[in-house]
Amino acid sequence: MTNQPTTSLPLLFCALSFAADHHRFGRRKGEEASPYINHPIAVAAELAEVGVTDHKILAAALLHDTLEDTDATPEDLEREFGPRIRRLVEAVTDDGSLPKEQRKQAQLEQARHMETDAKLIRIADKICNVRDVGFAPAAGWSLNRRREYLDWTEHVVDRCRGHLLPLERRYDDVLAESRAQLDSEEPGGE
Ligand code: ZN
Repeated sequence: MTNQPTTSLPLLFCALSFAADHHRFGRRKGEEASPYINHPIAVAAELAEVGVTDHKILAAALLHDTLEDTDATPEDLEREFGPRIRRLVEAVTDDGSLPKEQRKQAQLEQARHMETDAKLIRIADKICNVRDVGFAPAAGWSLNRRREYLDWTEHVVDRCRGHLLPLERRYDDVLAESRAQLDSEEPGGE
């Protein structure tokens, strides 16, 4: 972690409130269609659980999908939360102008060049997405599509490794559990 850790509970609650407000119409793709805000909360919680105490990283995790999925702008983030949080969120935001396959490829290529703190958010995001694809998949996703998604996250995470082993181990565990789940759903699987 590059900068001096920041501790500020008000910052965390402001980020949570900003994210909840901006994602208020959003739903996750899983069958239960849980409110979108549960996802960024889960991502921040993954980081906290492995010992990340820098509240700017946790706040950026809470905000990590606001640029991609809501009308929030980088300027909004900078004005509310300062340049470091804006930079972290921008680093984990896909280029929405690209078609989906190219976006995935771009995310893969950029992963290696991201700053360490952004890599941590990226891995935590993948932990949550891998769990969802394993256990609460989007309606209509075939087993094959889910498998391909898991494989892709593994490539992205491989390029983010080397900074926080407990987080990486957690990803590995969740990936293995989700793959086992897919195996068990395979026709003829257990
Ligand atoms: Zn996310």
